[in-house]
Amino acid sequence: MKIRFVGAAGEVTGSCYCVDCDGYRFLVDCGIHQGANEDERNREPLPFGPGELDAVFLTHAHMDHSGRIPYLVRQGFEGPIWTTPATARLVEILWHDSVHLMKEEAEWRSRKALRKGLPPIEPLYDESDVDGALKLLRPVEWEARTSASDGVVFSLHDAGHILGSSSVAFELREGGGTTRIVFSGDLGQQFPAVDRAPSVIREADYVLIESTYGDRLHKDDQATREEFRAVILTALKDRGKVLIPSFVVDRAQRLLFELSLMQIEGILPEVPIFFDSPMGVRATELYRAYGDTLSEEVRRHAASGVDLFSPRGFRNVLTSEDSQQLNDVPFGIVIAGSGMCTGGRIVHHLKHGAWNPKNHIVFVGYQAYGTLGRRIVDGETELRIAGEDVVLKAQVHTIGGFSAHGDRDDLLAWAGNFTTNPLFFVTHGEPEASQALSVSLQENGMRGIVPSAGQEFLIDPDVPVKRVSAEAAAPRSRARAALKDIELLLKRLRGDEKVLSDAEEVMHLLFSARTLLEAAARKKPGL
Ligand code: ZN
Repeated sequence: MKIRFVGAAGEVTGSCYCVDCDGYRFLVDCGIHQGANEDERNREPLPFGPGELDAVFLTHAHMDHSGRIPYLVRQGFEGPIWTTPATARLVEILWHDSVHLMKEEAEWRSRKALRKGLPPIEPLYDESDVDGALKLLRPVEWEARTSASDGVVFSLHDAGHILGSSSVAFELREGGGTTRIVFSGDLGQQFPAVDRAPSVIREADYVLIESTYGDRLHKDDQATREEFRAVILTALKDRGKVLIPSFVVDRAQRLLFELSLMQIEGILPEVPIFFDSPMGVRATELYRAYGDTLSEEVRRHAASGVDLFSPRGFRNVLTSEDSQQLNDVPFGIVIAGSGMCTGGRIVHHLKHGAWNPKNHIVFVGYQAYGTLGRRIVDGETELRIAGEDVVLKAQVHTIGGFSAHGDRDDLLAWAGNFTTNPLFFVTHGEPEASQALSVSLQENGMRGIVPSAGQEFLIDPDVPVKRVSAEAAAPRSRARAALKDIELLLKRLRGDEKVLSDAEEVMHLLFSARTLLEAAARKKPGL
């Protein structure tokens, strides 16, 4: 039996793992890579033909887990896609939305390409591929032990991350033996506000565990709530706009829930609150429809008849004309996607509002390397937004505790539920986070290793795990890692007073580095 780490190894997006078991080949997740200039990577062919693939198991609806499934279908995949009923409803919303975004982007890039005499850019997939993918969805309830084929039995378990999110537990039969592998999917916190805590799974030989926050601790939920409240109230005092880039599935519903609670407790008066996302509005309807799968806190308030997803002063913004009219609205809270500012309506709100020192930008989620959101969080003030240079003067706040992901201790608590001493493959994290979680697992008496993208392992519970192909990471991801190292070094050097006081000593080294970087820049296509 083999497992291959196609994506989300050494990074947080592009989740995709491939398992071969006795001639049956399946994927767990098939997500898009998110971040600057990832389009090319999303178009890279997968390391197998879609016809060689028997099934896909989908942990949850987020695009970095589900977003390349319609692309698989476009290439000819026809097998079942196993997931929960709520995820099946959510991906319908997300995939249709992504077709729309991809089409817009392809048109924009095609215009640029045509001016250079290059062929037009096709979107990754279209409506018909999405419709094809939706027909392949096979919803199953949490905890239901289901047979996908002769040797492949699986069950989905609440991962507490977003509506419908799951871990997948497999019992795989090959050569007379059974191997138990659990894929954590994205894991929620142990005490989430909107979702329920991740289910306890006790038995596995191997576990793939995500590590987005494997090296960090969140503030506890009450502290996060207080921090959010303080930021909102301070920001509103400036009578400017409070722009909240947010995932419009789960995070936005959490924010609406928090704003409602503030009003119920009399802390927040009625203020204009705009939810600028047609997709988010539809997702909110699903949160109501599947309300019985949510946290006790949510169910308790819902039982008393309060609609926690509609604070007073709240308005759904549906059309893009209405969204643009918000440019002229001087005061209020605007929640819009995308969460990392890589697209969506938040981009035009930032373009029109980031210059104004009365405005506030409140980040409430993870910002992946290379995204506009990450650049703002990292303190860049000269930004290029939607083709325009913008100087950032709005005040920036980051609230980390709202994460739909567990932190290091949440991950360790989930991992600690296993009673069978499994080997943990630590995935879905930037390299430092994955390494840190692996070390923490070992400090807590567990076994962890960190695979790299493209690596393949032979797995058999009776023999030590063995790497069968040690493919070096693709040149592209190695180049990306080098660029990141250079940026980090530069940041460190800039912050080090001694560099300039020792100018004579380091000057020649810096000049050499500049010469090398200039040479690298000349290699860039188009320069
Ligand atoms: Zn997720």
